[in-house]
Amino acid sequence: MSEEPTAKMSDIMPKSFEDLIKDVHEKDICGECGGCVSFCTAADIGAIEMTENGSPHYSNEENCLHCGICYLICPETFELRNELNNKYDFKPPIGSWLKIVSAQAKDPNIREIATDGGVVTAILIALLDNNLINGALISKRISSFKRIPFFAKTKEEILEAAGTYYDLKGPVPELGKYNTFVSTISELKKITDSDYMKIAVVGVPCQIHSIRKMQELNIIPAHIVKYTLGLFCYENFKFNDVARAKIEERFKFSFEDIEKMNIKDNLIIYLRNKDSPLKVEFSDLRDIMRHACRVCKNFSNYFADISFGGLGSQTGYTTVMVRTKTGEKIYNLAQNKGYIIEPTELNTSVEKSKLLAQIISFSKRKIRRAEDFEVI
Ligand SMILES: Cc1cc2nc3c(=O)[nH]c(=O)nc-3n(C[C@H](O)[C@H](O)[C@H](O)COP(=O)(O)OP(=O)(O)OC[C@H]3O[C@@H](n4cnc5c(N)ncnc54)[C@H](O)[C@@H]3O)c2cc1C
Ligand code: SF4
Ligand code: SF4
Ligand code: SF4
Repeated sequence: MSEEPTAKMSDIMPKSFEDLIKDVHEKDICGECGGCVSFCTAADIGAIEMTENGSPHYSNEENCLHCGICYLICPETFELRNELNNKYDFKPPIGSWLKIVSAQAKDPNIREIATDGGVVTAILIALLDNNLINGALISKRISSFKRIPFFAKTKEEILEAAGTYYDLKGPVPELGKYNTFVSTISELKKITDSDYMKIAVVGVPCQIHSIRKMQELNIIPAHIVKYTLGLFCYENFKFNDVARAKIEERFKFSFEDIEKMNIKDNLIIYLRNKDSPLKVEFSDLRDIMRHACRVCKNFSNYFADISFGGLGSQTGYTTVMVRTKTGEKIYNLAQNKGYIIEPTELNTSVEKSKLLAQIISFSKRKIRRAEDFEVI
């Protein structure tokens, strides 16, 4: 008599923190988002924590419930991929979209402080003014090269956090530690969950990916996230003083002279003593790229309600990809109520085709880079 095939334990048990260590840490692709630690089922009794260098580890292994939530939620695992792809109608390489435009905030004060056209800031203010949100999870600069997660509850606070540039005029924070990535997801857990709470989250693709996973798993307080505003992202940088010195030497400038930085089709550095900005190719910055970014394939933030970038638009304008019906509703509201404007001459069918072509080209370039590094 032939034996019934028996299921292996690994088929029955959900993947757990040990698997996260094996599949993410040991492959050196942890993005240090903090999602696994923040949303660990055993968070109250303590099972895992972030180390000093920003990666999670067991603080008390005995408390681990082996529930697998940390593995599911991690943006670096393949879990829930089909569910999200189906839900957001993902089509490679840039996902689905309803509209692509170049736009800017109508308010010149917003444009003055914003990274590109200030459309993200204008939409957040429109949402707040119209009681569609109580606040927005964004990030704000606290000193040179250091931003922190920030839950903005007023128009003034949203304005205070506008702009994604890193200005080095302030005090140097932690000597030798430069990181352009801000771990905002861990902050979400701290936002009080209540029936009336409704928030918008701004984030790069890996952050919005985590949010979508939380929503899919229905983990509290993911349901208070009503709107996801995604930023394009080719890569982020993490480096120390040695790397800083090498960059200064290679590109013949001093960090002290940086006035503003922006990321578009390359890294754009505005220097105090130069009329035109220094443009540095991403390929010249490989040694300071965060390791997790090497395998990331999502440039245009395809799970967001609306995606935003500088790529393809003129200086002073934001490239906007409205993706979901929710995104369309809030974009139309902001436009109809005069928070944002779309100049006709920048949005002819020829101009829109050029925008689309650039987004596709960068997305493909990022996918090719990830495939060269592929480890999972
Ligand atoms: C790390 C990073 C990498 C990027 N890479 C590219 C790129 O390669 N190509 C490209 O075209 N565009 C890139 N962008 C997007 C671009 O820099 C602008 O953010 C985008 O065009 C929106 O401009 P805006 O003027 O409308 O935004 P603003 O009106 O200036 O608003 C930006 C908002 O984003 C928030 N924010 C900034 N950084 C973060 C963060 N890390 N997490 C959460 N919220 C944040 C700010 O607090 C602010 O609320 C990147 C952005 C970031 C933060
Ligand atoms: S309790 Fe669950 S979420 Fe927390 S570390 Fe263990 S497996 Fe991961
Ligand atoms: S990427 Fe985020 S969720 Fe995944 S292991 Fe690292 S900190 Fe945890
Ligand atoms: S490249 Fe990918 S992993 Fe790196 S910060 Fe951007 S979205 Fe996150």
